[in-house]
Amino acid sequence: MPTRRSFLRTSLAATTAILADVSSIVANETPTISKSSSDVSVDGVKFLTPEAPDYAIARKIYNAGISTQPRVIACCTSETGVQHALERAKAENWPVAVKAGGHSFEGFCLNEDGLVVNVSALRRMQLDVKTGNLIAGAGCQLEEVNRFLLARGRFLPAGSCGTVGLAGLTLGGGYGMFARKWGLTCDHLRRVKMVDGAGAIRDSNEDPDLLWVSRGGGNGHFGIVTELTFNTRAAPARFSAWKFRAYRLDPKRATALLETWFEASADLPNEAFSAWIMNGSQVTVLVTTIGSREQKGLVVFRHRLAGLTKKATSAVPSPLKKSLSWYYGDPGPVYFKNASAGYYKGVADIRPALPGIFEEVLSFPGLVFQINTLGGAISADVDGAYPHRAFAYLGESQAYWESVAHATVLQEAIGRMRAHIAQAGITRHYANYPDLAFKDWPTAYYGAENYARLQQLKRRYDPENRIRHPQSVQLPD
Ligand SMILES: Cc1cc2nc3c(=O)[nH]c(=O)nc-3n(C[C@H](O)[C@H](O)[C@H](O)COP(=O)(O)OP(=O)(O)OC[C@H]3O[C@@H](n4cnc5c(N)ncnc54)[C@H](O)[C@@H]3O)c2cc1C
Repeated sequence: MPTRRSFLRTSLAATTAILADVSSIVANETPTISKSSSDVSVDGVKFLTPEAPDYAIARKIYNAGISTQPRVIACCTSETGVQHALERAKAENWPVAVKAGGHSFEGFCLNEDGLVVNVSALRRMQLDVKTGNLIAGAGCQLEEVNRFLLARGRFLPAGSCGTVGLAGLTLGGGYGMFARKWGLTCDHLRRVKMVDGAGAIRDSNEDPDLLWVSRGGGNGHFGIVTELTFNTRAAPARFSAWKFRAYRLDPKRATALLETWFEASADLPNEAFSAWIMNGSQVTVLVTTIGSREQKGLVVFRHRLAGLTKKATSAVPSPLKKSLSWYYGDPGPVYFKNASAGYYKGVADIRPALPGIFEEVLSFPGLVFQINTLGGAISADVDGAYPHRAFAYLGESQAYWESVAHATVLQEAIGRMRAHIAQAGITRHYANYPDLAFKDWPTAYYGAENYARLQQLKRRYDPENRIRHPQSVQLPD
């Protein structure tokens, strides 16, 4: 497994070239992959087998606990390269998985004994300064997209972690601290190019269904997305954040705090975002805004939370570029098990599960239960496969460990949390927070109606089911 230091070295080796012309600005961030006699290269693709020196880098994913070993990794530098990779997979009758940023919780970007199409070299970004539209290669990561756009006064609302892939995030939805103001990342998608499972090049300008699937229903089911076009926003001038901490909570106090958080967060302005994070007996509440610090709902929220917590900290309003870097997180790999803890309309939905969840989190260090605010612009009617717009909150169960013994205990605890959530009647889950243990994952991630449409489109784009992972859309009967 590459160490944190070797990862940083790889990142620093990436080259950045910025070329400017009158109407558009282009950047290219290309990870270096060396040449070796054991690798086979054809036009636009290099095939790496496990003995190749760069195989480990090409295979590297965020979840350190996943050991899945693809037979071949096809590192593609062009659409043609992706087509060659698919031709080879078809000739050998191998299944194909798709890897961009490698952050899938369950490692759906890898497969055992199949071929993985790695698009991480597709890093070109082009900003049309007249329209504000960004064309991004499918290998771009969030931090470099932020850096590229913010330097030009533009911004694309996305997630927090800097090394998450833009493609994987968007194809499953994509929410973060700015989604209540502007909508999900996939809501900003305007055009998609994809090499489908049969090897044909598809463009959503000619095939609008491709845009529909790519807005929340496109992760590793139909083909390999090579390029995404987004509308961007004028970058907000300032970002403010506050943190409230409460310590040594018992279930009663944790419940009271959470009830207050739900009540107060319902009146937050759309510029604001909040997260409620329980780690052992400590709760941290984060609230951020890109609007005025004095908006009424935000002031009331801070007042109510301050009254129930021990410690409050407030960051000086900062430029967005600086503030975003506070949340980029560990570049990984990390030993963890994260999963959706469901969508809720309000506290009533999750209340029956709280005693069980709190008992687990209080008993097992390493377990975290988090709820994030959605709502606002996410609730708008957008034509896409993301089906959860009516829900104002999203929960996440998390476990982090360093030893195998600890892993088993925590995974069992996550399993009990999952059971409490299911018993409370919560059935909807975020496709980008997958869990292999979700039984009815098609309905949970997409809703029954959207899943049926996704199945029909699977037949159009990938009739041989070449592109697949354990929770990929199935061909219709
Ligand atoms: C530390 C961390 C922080 C996160 N923070 C957030 C957050 O703030 N907001 C949020 O919404 N989500 C967040 N997520 C979840 C994240 O959005 C998903 O894990 C996302 O799918 C990762 O995309 P990726 O490209 O990095 O991963 P990958 O593992 O490469 O891909 C994820 C899935 O997308 C498919 N895929 C990737 N590229 C393509 C392509 N080009 N064509 C077709 N299919 C493709 C893969 O096959 C796989 O099924 C986070 C995850 C982690 C681990």
